[in-house]
Amino acid sequence: MNSEQIQELKAHIGNAIVFDDSETLRSRRFDRWCIKHYRDWRGQNVEAPACVVRPQCAEDVQKTVNFARDRQIAIIPFGLGSGVCGGVEADSSQLMLDMSDMNKMGDINEIDLLATFEAGTNGLVAEEAVAAKGLTIAHWPQSIGISSVGGWVSTRASGQFSTAYGNIEDIVYSVEVVLPNGDLVTLGKAPRAASGPDLRHLIMGAEGTLGIITKVTLSLRRQPEHRETSAYYAPSMEAGFVAQRQLVQSGWQPPVMRQYDASEVARNFPDYVHDDSALILLVHEGPRSRVVAETQATSELMQSLGLTPADHKVTEKWLENRNHVPEWTDLLKQGLIADTIEVSASWTKIDEVYENVVAALGTVPSIVNASAHSSHVYRSGINLYFTFACMPEDAADMESLYFECWDKALEATAAAGGGIAHHHGSGRLRKPYIHHDLGEGGIEIFKTVKKALDPDGLMNPGNLMPD
Ligand SMILES: Cc1cc2nc3c(=O)[nH]c(=O)nc-3n(C[C@H](O)[C@H](O)[C@H](O)COP(=O)(O)OP(=O)(O)OC[C@H]3O[C@@H](n4cnc5c(N)ncnc54)[C@H](O)[C@@H]3O)c2cc1C
Repeated sequence: MNSEQIQELKAHIGNAIVFDDSETLRSRRFDRWCIKHYRDWRGQNVEAPACVVRPQCAEDVQKTVNFARDRQIAIIPFGLGSGVCGGVEADSSQLMLDMSDMNKMGDINEIDLLATFEAGTNGLVAEEAVAAKGLTIAHWPQSIGISSVGGWVSTRASGQFSTAYGNIEDIVYSVEVVLPNGDLVTLGKAPRAASGPDLRHLIMGAEGTLGIITKVTLSLRRQPEHRETSAYYAPSMEAGFVAQRQLVQSGWQPPVMRQYDASEVARNFPDYVHDDSALILLVHEGPRSRVVAETQATSELMQSLGLTPADHKVTEKWLENRNHVPEWTDLLKQGLIADTIEVSASWTKIDEVYENVVAALGTVPSIVNASAHSSHVYRSGINLYFTFACMPEDAADMESLYFECWDKALEATAAAGGGIAHHHGSGRLRKPYIHHDLGEGGIEIFKTVKKALDPDGLMNPGNLMPD
C-alpha cells in the first residue's frame, strides 16, 4: 500500500480513523505471540502495517473492505491483540483493521438473556455491564481484561469456567460479519436451528480469514446463587483423570476443575506440595442445594477412588490470582524462552498424550521446565495445557529451541491421537500442524470455502490456512 493509496483511503472513509504515524504502526506490529516479542527484544526488524484503520461502525468496515478489495490490498483484523499464536501480523503492503473503537453495547434483554456487543468490546467491560444486572456471560478467559468479544469468536476461545458453561461456541447466539465482498450478514437468529449447516461456525475460529466480525450477540446466564470450592490430591495424573472423568460422567458439572501435575504444584502452589501428588482444584456453582449436593458427591467419589482432600484455600488462592501472568520480556530478561501449548484428547488417549509430550519436551536441549495442567473437561475427554521453558547459554539459540519445543509437543500429541489446538486458535504458529486435526479432506473443504468467500485471498493472508 503506497502513500497515495493511504491518502485516498483517508479521503474515502475519513481522515480521523486512518492512522499512519509511526507510533500507531509500531504498536500494531504483533499480538502476544512469544516469538515476535523475542525478535523485537533481540532488536530484529518486525514489520509494521502500512496503515491502521479504526472503524467506528459496520459501514466503515464495509467501506474499508470494498476500498481494499478494489486495490487488492490485504486486510489484517486486530481485536485487542492478546492472541498468542501470531494471528495478527501485517507487512508494509497491508492494512490493519483495528476493531477496538467498535465497542458500543446494545440493549441487554433480561428475559431472553441476550446481550449484543460490537466486536471490539473489551471482554471485562462486557462482563461488568451484564454483571450490573445480576447476569453473567460466564466466559472467563484468563485474558478477559485484554481481549475483545470479536477476538473470542475469531479464535474459538475458552473460559476458565467452561466445564459447566461451555466454550464461546456455546455462548454465541448470533454474529454479524462483513464478508470479503463487502456484504454485511447476520448469522444466527433463534436459540437453535435446523435450517441447514450452522454458518456461525464458519466464522467462529476463522481468525480473520473469512470476514470481519462487527457485532456479536451472546446468550447470558443469571449469576449463580452460591459458590463453594474444594481441592483434592491425586496420587498420579492418571488417577486424577479417572476421578475427573467419573465425576462429569456421573452428571456433576463443577464449572472449574483443574488438575496440576507435581511440577506445576511446586511452581504455582508451593505451600500445598504433597509428596509427588497431582492437585485438583474445583469450583462448584449454581443453586445452593445443587452446589451442596455436588460438593458432597465430589468428596465421596474422590475419596472412594483414593484421592485425599486438600485445603480448599488453594482454590480460593487460584481464584484470586488466576489472571496474573508474566510478560514475555520479563522471562526473556531472565534468560528463559517459554510458552504454553493447549491440546486435548479423549479419556482413553489423555494419559499417553501427557506422558509423551512431557517426555518429548524433555529431549529439547536446555529445557528447564516441561509440565502440564488440565482445565477444561468434557464427557468424552479433557484438555491439557503444557508449559515449557528453555534456558540456553546463548540467547541467539532461543528461537530455534522455541520452535523445536512446539514441533515436538504437537507431533507427540498428534501421534498419541490428541487434537493439536484446544483454545488459543492456530494462527501462523500452528498452521503447519493443522492437517493433524482437519485431515487432508478437511483442508480441501476449508480451501474451497476460502476461495469462494475470499477469491483474492485478501483476508489475513498467511494466517491459519496451510501454505
Ligand atoms: C495472558 C493471556 C491469557 C490468555 N488466556 C486465554 C484463555 O484463558 N482462553 C482463551 O481462549 N484464550 C486465551 N488467551 C488468548 C487470547 O486472549 C484469545 O485468543 C482471545 O480470544 C484473542 O482476542 P483478541 O481480541 O485479543 O484478538 P486478537 O489477538 O486481536 O486477534 C486474534 C485473531 O482473531 C482475528 N480477529 C480479531 N478480531 C476480529 C474481528 N472482529 N473479526 C475478524 N477477525 C478478528 C485476528 O486477525 C487474529 O487472527 C490468552 C492470552 C494471553 C496473552
